Amino acid sequence: MKYLCLLALTIFGIQCSSKKSVTEMSEEELKSYAHELAQRFIIADGHVDLPYMLVEKNVVVSPATKDTLVSTTMGEFDFERSRKGGLDAPFMSIYIPVKFQQAPGYGISLADSLMDQVDNIIRLLPEKFAAAKTPEDIDQNARQGKVSLPMGMENGSPVGTDLNRLQYLFDRGIRYITLTHNRDNQICDASNDTTHTWNGLSPFGRDVVAEMNRLGMMVDISHVDDSTFYQVMKLSKAPAIASHSSCRHFAPKAKRDLSDDMIKTIGEQGGVIMINYYPNFLDSTASVLSAELDRRLKEKGLEENTPEGDAFIKKFRQENPGSVTVETVANHIDHIRKIAGINHIGIGSDYDGVGGNLPRGLEDVTTYPTLIASLLKRGYSEEDIEKICSGNLFRVWNKVISVSDSLRKESVTKL
Ligand SMILES: [Zn+2]
Repeated sequence: MKYLCLLALTIFGIQCSSKKSVTEMSEEELKSYAHELAQRFIIADGHVDLPYMLVEKNVVVSPATKDTLVSTTMGEFDFERSRKGGLDAPFMSIYIPVKFQQAPGYGISLADSLMDQVDNIIRLLPEKFAAAKTPEDIDQNARQGKVSLPMGMENGSPVGTDLNRLQYLFDRGIRYITLTHNRDNQICDASNDTTHTWNGLSPFGRDVVAEMNRLGMMVDISHVDDSTFYQVMKLSKAPAIASHSSCRHFAPKAKRDLSDDMIKTIGEQGGVIMINYYPNFLDSTASVLSAELDRRLKEKGLEENTPEGDAFIKKFRQENPGSVTVETVANHIDHIRKIAGINHIGIGSDYDGVGGNLPRGLEDVTTYPTLIASLLKRGYSEEDIEKICSGNLFRVWNKVISVSDSLRKESVTKL
């Protein structure tokens, strides 16, 4: 028996070590176990900014650039690193910056071009990437070793004032909309805007939430003002998501993080909060470092997304690593568990969207096992970890689909 176990430990070291309790494992065994869980469980990430980062870096997805999507040193995501980290379904953010809110609906051409980028990735690399419009699609793709690229839109500005645009976006594959970004738009008020244009949702915004419920599109409350948040909680017939938001408790000035009461409310509504990795949203000390970097960039006349600016930023971050680590993210997860419970936590890293400013230990998509190891050490069970990796998001997403089914049936009966 001992020999068998030794043999199994040699050949299937992971499986044998997983029989041990976590407290009995060496660091190496824990690492292998966390890696095994990352491979075994579906990992969905609520927010990855690849499409817009490609725009910023002037990369057009084409046969000439497709290898960049397989393996690259640019940014935090590619196919090979996804496989290594166990990532199955990064939500591709169709991000519409505030400058595209000059007129309602003005951002639709940008949205189209970003969705085209995602479609082209799948078209050019069909053996590696696949579209996904449901949790079931993601399951099936994962079984074939493919990374799913579901889409969520960050900022509802391109919807304009035409509810039919929602159907168009849904048909193209958008499965959540973050109602706004850093400024109030035609739908609702934003957390980083002090104008309070609507005191929450606009009248049109209320119709948008209802139509998203009917279509089966998740309502994302990341970035919205508190007033908007509470109105969505009351109005939405299906649970909501925060695709990339952390806890205000640890960074009180980060108004786009969720207060304890908001965490409790979204939990009671059945939703999920997917933790954002951006250090300034995780710990109040991180914003001091960011301000210092901005000051030095300005002093030197350098800008992000230029070779000199990016090199300077990289060097500054290496020399000033800050105190935010994977443990900080795990603290946020602990906090949500304490307030709302294990059924309301997910991951929404914001990879490729934060200029490489990330917690130590979570530098790119290879690091999901590092977070899992931290959770194992804190006593999280396999079942808990699976819920955080994707189970909670999928429960919400499936509920949104079933609410849509019944609303659609209702409207047919009324006819
Ligand atoms: Zn964002």
